[in-house]
Amino acid sequence: MIEKKDKPSFLRDATLSEETGEIRWRNTDMVVFHGIALRTIFKANRELLGSGADPIWYEAGRKVGLADGELLLPLKEEIPWVQFMQTIGEIFTSMGWGVCKVVLSDPDKKEAIVHIKNCAISRGEISDTAICYYLAGAVEGIFRVLLNADVVCRETKCQAKGDPYCEFHVTRKLS
Ligand SMILES: [Zn+2]
Repeated sequence: MIEKKDKPSFLRDATLSEETGEIRWRNTDMVVFHGIALRTIFKANRELLGSGADPIWYEAGRKVGLADGELLLPLKEEIPWVQFMQTIGEIFTSMGWGVCKVVLSDPDKKEAIVHIKNCAISRGEISDTAICYYLAGAVEGIFRVLLNADVVCRETKCQAKGDPYCEFHVTRKLS
């Protein structure tokens, strides 16, 4: 069992270089972003491109998720799988994305379910359909690496639709 102080945390472990103006965390440059700016970018894209914006955001998220997965992969060797999944939720919570929890992860079936309560994209938003395509893509990318499988992710619940949290379901891609 690793102590809370030893768990990876963005807020605790990130460092700022005065020289380069970069915040670094696990050897990656990070940017602290205004939540309103984030939601405005997604909203402006959807206003301009309609639902055509959705696959673009999914793909962008997927690519970032692949990089995140590679960044997180070394932890897989350090701690048991269940704890690893819990830690992943805690890392993204520490970045302000909302309360992130991996509620199911099956490395054999290549399946995972992630819940994000008060998700940063849907926070305060109202929509008839799920809107967190960027996060769905990111969850796919991360689990594609961690489960080492060809998977897809669908957002099956979204706070913007009135659900209590956003839910992302990763399953094996049907060929
Ligand atoms: Zn959502």
